[in-house]
Amino acid sequence: MSDSAPEKIAYCPLCATPLITRPVSDKPRRACPNCHYIYFTDPKVGVGVFVVDDGKVLLVRRRMNPEKGKWSIPAGFLDSGEDPRETAVREAFEETNLRVKIEGLIDVYYNPVTQGPGASVFILYRARLLGGELRAGDDADDARFFHLGELPEIAFASTRAAIQQLTNNQ
Ligand SMILES: [Zn+2]
Repeated sequence: MSDSAPEKIAYCPLCATPLITRPVSDKPRRACPNCHYIYFTDPKVGVGVFVVDDGKVLLVRRRMNPEKGKWSIPAGFLDSGEDPRETAVREAFEETNLRVKIEGLIDVYYNPVTQGPGASVFILYRARLLGGELRAGDDADDARFFHLGELPEIAFASTRAAIQQLTNNQ
């Protein structure tokens, strides 16, 4: 089975005809033999936010697997029709109850492992704390500021690497 033509995508969402696999440009794709629909496997885009206040970084503890119980930066998936900056602000609020303001883009990361629920493209912003009362919510069961020199166990190797790089630059 090709990543570009998942056979579990069985029916045309426009006319309900069973899809077939056929070459489209350079790749096999699931396509409708009745109308002109082609199924494109769009990448999942994740957005995270790095908030440092008074020498401490805002982290949330993961309530769910993968990496349940470990800490990460507030992050979530880009929703259709949403500016990634809005995603960053929204996820920070949902997971920590804090209001933040985006100050800039840190980097865009590519994760070639696209199996499972993870994002293959991850956008990381730097943000400033505006206010609010810190309280964990949504996918987080705890939320705290940690001194950069005293970080807890961080989920995901890529997040560990990014936080390490960012703390070195503070
Ligand atoms: Zn169709």
